[in-house]
Amino acid sequence: MTELKDKVAIVTGGSRGIGAAISMELAKNGVKIVLNYVSRKEHAEKMVAEINEIGGEAYAVQADVSKSEDAAKLVQEAVNHFGRLDILINNAGITRDSTFKKLSEEDWRKVIDVNLNSVFNTTSVALPSLLESDAGRIINISSIIGQAGGFGQTNYAAAKAGLIGYTKSLALELAKSNVTVNAICPGFIGTEMVMAIPEKVLDGIVAKVPQKRLGKPEEVARGVVYLCKDGDYITGQQLNINGGLYM
Ligand code: NDP
Repeated sequence: MTELKDKVAIVTGGSRGIGAAISMELAKNGVKIVLNYVSRKEHAEKMVAEINEIGGEAYAVQADVSKSEDAAKLVQEAVNHFGRLDILINNAGITRDSTFKKLSEEDWRKVIDVNLNSVFNTTSVALPSLLESDAGRIINISSIIGQAGGFGQTNYAAAKAGLIGYTKSLALELAKSNVTVNAICPGFIGTEMVMAIPEKVLDGIVAKVPQKRLGKPEEVARGVVYLCKDGDYITGQQLNINGGLYM
């Protein structure tokens, strides 16, 4: 088991939804958090205050992780601020749903940039610091859509499936180091991203979930804590947190 107290984590897109829950659950375990956001500063500030209230430490950094110079700045600020880096949670993500016939090149590229290329941008700069940790962790937040596909989601499914292949390959390359690399594939979780789905469509989705409900951000966050704390011999895996929707 890995002691998480005083470890340092970057959580991309840590200001809202699943990323905010991951930041909070890690902070409850004593991890110092670098909480990244792209535009909504108020959410980031609220999360920093909430983490401080429980006696944790958090530091917010604005960066668009789809841009390599921003991602580099994020990692450098994290290391400068806390003096080390142990955990990288690649969580930032967006959707731009459209059937393929109507999908614009702009929406294809934007979704690949934010969900997939961002992971190259952060990981390539963070890796030297992670390799110095006694228990480095890279966790990529993929999706059930990357495993099963999604109507109107060719761009998002391509990015999320890409993350799974990337996770396995990097896990192999780093297996002899102290750094593990895993993916989490959430099903449908009640965040702003999912609440943007029209109500009728969402009702139809929930009806297909064997557990008959949406997941909670905290339920994904606890998977992250498990991999960080108890995951010394777990690498290259996909952890499905989906109420049984995809097995
Ligand atoms: P939300 O839309 O609730 O939150 C997205 C977060 O990502 C925000 O903090 C946002 O910052 C940040 N973000 C968006 N673009 C960028 C960018 N370019 N650079 C840095 N940060 C960015 O999403 P969820 O919490 O629902 O999703 C989190 C992750 O989980 C995503 O990767 C998503 O694909 C994945 N996922 C979600 C599922 C769900 O059901 N919700 C299911 C499966 C996977 P800001 O507030 O500044 O906009």
